[in-house]
Order: sequence, then C-alpha cells, then structure tokens
Amino acid sequence: MKKVIWLVLSIWFLNAMPFEAAETEADKRMYQNRMELFKKMETATAIPWYYYAGIDQYERSLRFVRDDLPKPKDNISVYIPPEKWAGYMNPNHEDTSPLTIAFFHGVGVDGNGDGKADRTDSEDVLAAIGKYLLSYGTDHDNIKIALWRYYQRDKSVSLIIGNAMMYKNYGKLNLQDKTFPLPKRFNYSYKNTWGDARGWGGRRTHEGTDIFANYSVPVRSVSYGIVEMKGWNRFGGWRIGIRDINNTYYYYAHLNGFADGLKIGQTVAPGTIIGGVGSTGYGPPGTSGKFPPHLHFGMYKDNGKNEWSFDPYPHLKNWERQSDS
Ligand SMILES: [Zn+2]
Repeated sequence: MKKVIWLVLSIWFLNAMPFEAAETEADKRMYQNRMELFKKMETATAIPWYYYAGIDQYERSLRFVRDDLPKPKDNISVYIPPEKWAGYMNPNHEDTSPLTIAFFHGVGVDGNGDGKADRTDSEDVLAAIGKYLLSYGTDHDNIKIALWRYYQRDKSVSLIIGNAMMYKNYGKLNLQDKTFPLPKRFNYSYKNTWGDARGWGGRRTHEGTDIFANYSVPVRSVSYGIVEMKGWNRFGGWRIGIRDINNTYYYYAHLNGFADGLKIGQTVAPGTIIGGVGSTGYGPPGTSGKFPPHLHFGMYKDNGKNEWSFDPYPHLKNWERQSDS
C-alpha cells in the first residue's frame, strides 16, 4: 500500500515540477546570469535587454516541444545552425575562427573575447544576434523587420515581440507564477472531465475543465501573458485567449462579459481580472443560459506546425493549493 502511495505521489510530483516549481536558488542564479548577459548586450548595442530575452525565450519554448532541435540548456537557448554560423560556403561548418567565418559571411562572432566564435557559447550567440539586429537598427520597427527576415514567419515575430513586452512591463525574467482562475473566497466546484464525450457547452470531445460557479464570479488570468484573442465564438460564447512566456495558450470561455478596458495585445499578470463567469455560447452573439454558468478553462501548446490541447485539471489542482486567495 505504502509503495503505491509513493508511486502516485512521485508521478504527481514529476508531472507538476516543470510548471509549478517554486523558484530555487539554482533558478535564481540562472535568471540572474541570463539577465546580466542581456543587460551587457543592451550596453553594447543600445538594443533594450528585453528583445534579447524575448528571442531567447521564444527559442527555448520551441525547443521543448520539437524533436528536430537540440534540447535547451540552462543558459541562452538560441539555436543557430552550423552552416548559418560558419557561412554557407564555408567548407568547415564547425569553424570557430572569427576571421574565416567573416570571410564566408557567417553570422558567428566572438562575443566573450576568447578569440573563438563558438556557437555553443552564450555570449558569442548573443553577440551574433546583436550584430545581426544592429544591421537593421535599434528601434522597435527595425527590430521587427530584422526578426521577420530571420524567421520568415509572422507568428514567430509576434511571439517574440509578445515575450519582449511581458519582460519590459514586468521588469524580470521569471514570469512563471500562477494562480487559480477563480478567487477562493467564492463557491465553485470542478472535477476531472478530460476526454468526456461532452462538456457543458463545450465541444464534441471535451478539451478542458469546467469550473461551476455563480454568475459574475470574477475570472482571473492564471498566468503572466498577452491577451491574444477576445470576442464571441458560437461554442465558447464570450471568450478570451491568453498566451504565456512558455507559449502555452489559456482559453477562458462562456464569460458573462469582459473586464473594463481589457484589450487584445495587453499584458496581464496572475490574478488580473479578465471577466466574469457566465453561460454564454451556443448561438449568435449574446446567447446565454443554455447551460448552467461555469468557466470553461482550456490549455494548449503549439510547436510552430500544429497545436494540441492538454488536460488542465492537475494544473488547476496545483494552483488552487498554492494560491493564497
Ligand atoms: Zn467545458
């Protein structure tokens, strides 16, 4: 019996770890270390630190969900392919000589002054990005153009700029705090309905958790993030989509309305009120009351090619336990 409990506990713990672990000393050092590198680049290039942080975080999130890229390490996670680093015509794709790399128009540079342009060194990689961005300019619009030319994809640019705006507005790199979507002083109930044939007012297979509560109970953002979508959908009613720094997308549906002044493109923090519980959906805009009031809460990931939903229930349980209010 004891064994079983331990097994269950450790599975739960392993599941929870990557998302909800409190900041450890090692984390603190890692964030400090990264911030120092970004600030150093800001000094060297006059491009604000949060753009570097936004690019780095975009690539880190991508590498967690892609099998064709090496997994990220602790520090800077930007992956520059060897031939891009060394120069496409360079016969040696593992070249670390700044001179020959420059000769073959590679992007690689020596950022830490050790005489080598090493694409696995954090400072060298950041210096290469800085040099590339500087060739376009230091203002917001030119940075966006540079990013578009580099990634050739609108979505990548908007994710990076979204990250940068979050870092700028909150002034720190650790934006992993979470909270439960409803304030705990209100009555609510929910259970694990993942994969049920139908949720209340949900889709054909239920991709999320329904949290039942009275009309107008405040709905809060669970995470730091950017409001990416806001409006009416036939199934979801009045709903909001928010994307966080890890490229996780949170979906809040059937709301009875939105918080005053909440805009697409705005940054939110865990606990920011975004709307109220309602029963909207299943008809033209404004349709309400076809099922009991509840918040439908969904979580999604994408890897740049496709998108999938995953079960929010264990996360909700965690955030509920950890929220003070
Ligand atoms: Zn639902």
